[in-house]
Amino acid sequence: THWKHGGIVGVFGYGGGVIGRYSDAPEQFPAIAHFHTIRVNQPASKFYSTAYLRKLCEMWDHRGSGMTNLHGSTGDMVLLGTTTDQLEPVFYDLTHQMGVDLGGSGSNLRTPSCCIGKARCEWSCLDTQAICYDLTQTYQDELHRPAFPYKFKFKVSGCPNDCVAAIARSCCSIIGTWKDDIRIDQAAVKAYIGGELKPNAGAHSDKDWGPFDIQKEVIDLCPTQCMWMEGDELKIDNRECTRCMHCINVMPEALRPGTDTGATILVGAKAPILDGAQMSTLAIPFIRMEPPYDEFKEFV
Ligand code: SF4
Ligand code: SF4
Repeated sequence: THWKHGGIVGVFGYGGGVIGRYSDAPEQFPAIAHFHTIRVNQPASKFYSTAYLRKLCEMWDHRGSGMTNLHGSTGDMVLLGTTTDQLEPVFYDLTHQMGVDLGGSGSNLRTPSCCIGKARCEWSCLDTQAICYDLTQTYQDELHRPAFPYKFKFKVSGCPNDCVAAIARSCCSIIGTWKDDIRIDQAAVKAYIGGELKPNAGAHSDKDWGPFDIQKEVIDLCPTQCMWMEGDELKIDNRECTRCMHCINVMPEALRPGTDTGATILVGAKAPILDGAQMSTLAIPFIRMEPPYDEFKEFV
């Protein structure tokens, strides 16, 4: 079969969202003479209702192969396999009955994606859903009509743990960070040292790693060596902290990101199959990310 990215088949007015796929042996395999892929723009952070998923699957059973890929690497819900005559009906059903749109493909802006952010994660320094939704709406034209020589991706992570792997996969990474000090609860630090609280929130506890050692497991692993103990108090030289999240991940009840929050912007990552991931480059160390995100959009 042949994959034909961008514009060979599609829906009226759009230059992406459908990836044409044709069999080289249609006489032998008439049922898959066409087997086009459709990308459906996912909701921010991929919050779905079961009613929507059921409706989507019923529609796809009726109009396509019934196979889906939940989700593609970009984040879209991917509907795998239909014929050219079904494309407009699928598009109509998606937009008029389910209130969703096609995602990006080819040399479009790709569907922006984000981590679960403040919806469920206490570490998020950004309203990742709001940013993702705003960018999706602001750049509708670029999302549906290929304007670039190659694809372009925005990905938004609420903190430097970067759960959407923006730093390795997106042309423009928006990663939540903070300017002020890491918040420290010294009583909780003592509770970790004393063994009352489980490090890493109990992850890795399937094996006995021995008692928690704050020096070995936190302080010595700080990449900038900016932490130390003074008696039984944990100290951090916040000017030297690179916001790597390691100490916070290990002791989430004792340490939290600061409250003066914004984003770090990086550019230029991509993950080509042959060369492997190419990490992005820091462009803006700190920028406020409040609606309507004018400063950021000026940069874009
Ligand atoms: S990137 Fe950070 S804020 Fe987003 S889900 Fe992961 S840990 Fe939470
Ligand atoms: S966040 Fe990383 S760099 Fe900052 S103090 Fe913790 S371990 Fe060190």
